[in-house]
Amino acid sequence: MKRCKLKGGHYAPPHETLVMKMYAERYFAGIDVGSTTTKAVVITSKRALLGKAVVPTGISAGRAVDKALAQALEEASIERGSIRRLVATGYGRNLVNFADERITEITCHARGAFEKLQSELTLIDIGGQDCKAIAIGSQGRVKSFQMNDRCAAGTGRFLEVLARVLETDVENLSAMALAATRRVNINNMCTVFAESEVVSFIAQETPPEDIACGLCWSVAERVGGMAKKVGLGDDIFISGGVAYNSAIVTALGKQLGRTVQVIEEPQLNGAYGAAIIAGERMRLDDV
Ligand code: ADP
Repeated sequence: MKRCKLKGGHYAPPHETLVMKMYAERYFAGIDVGSTTTKAVVITSKRALLGKAVVPTGISAGRAVDKALAQALEEASIERGSIRRLVATGYGRNLVNFADERITEITCHARGAFEKLQSELTLIDIGGQDCKAIAIGSQGRVKSFQMNDRCAAGTGRFLEVLARVLETDVENLSAMALAATRRVNINNMCTVFAESEVVSFIAQETPPEDIACGLCWSVAERVGGMAKKVGLGDDIFISGGVAYNSAIVTALGKQLGRTVQVIEEPQLNGAYGAAIIAGERMRLDDV
């Protein structure tokens, strides 16, 4: 066992070293390398969120990981060496070569959501280039899940491309959709074909608000279908960056005939779950 150095350069006796280490605060980190954004969180052993960061993944996931972790550590006011264990998740998790462990985003999202709810729930996650629905049991176990990571249908990317056609951005799309007087039907889930539909609605001078509403509804339909397949629990929550789009949350609720709630810190949910798992996996002999 390594002995703790005391002030004045002396070393504590082994039993004191053990006691000091047991009482020293321990920190854990989770990094979620998504296709669009990279998220990092730092938590305490009591699972309190100390630091967080969301940065664009861009063309270098490695750079994004370093930047996100540095920002989260700065917010937490701790050094990188104080992190006792770090778990990476997300589609780029294998690029985090310094991680102690790499775990799938289904497991980490489920863990993050269960930690906040402590009860059975259905989680819908809509990220930049994938969407998923996860049925989570009363012990936090993943009962079943559905995932689309093959095409942009029902994802943030779909919204980003089509928002641009409407000469707006994803942050504004929700407000536009909520101001609609009637909703148009977007029949194609495929981004390329949906873009042609939007262009022809614009040519017919359809109000952009009604088109925005149709686009949000289209995403809700795609993802709502997946949620029904995994089974709807009493509590339905949404995570991922697209959870910031209230029009989609409302449309999902109407689709499912239930209230859909936005989970706390929705975009950080996977990274938070990874950090929770990091804390749980730390064995006693690491103390
Ligand atoms: P990933 O983990 O796949 O990289 P995220 O969960 O970080 O994805 O979500 C990224 C997506 O969230 C973006 O594609 C964007 O569409 C959406 N998004 C992010 N912020 C907002 C916002 N404020 N309003 C609406 N959509 C948003």
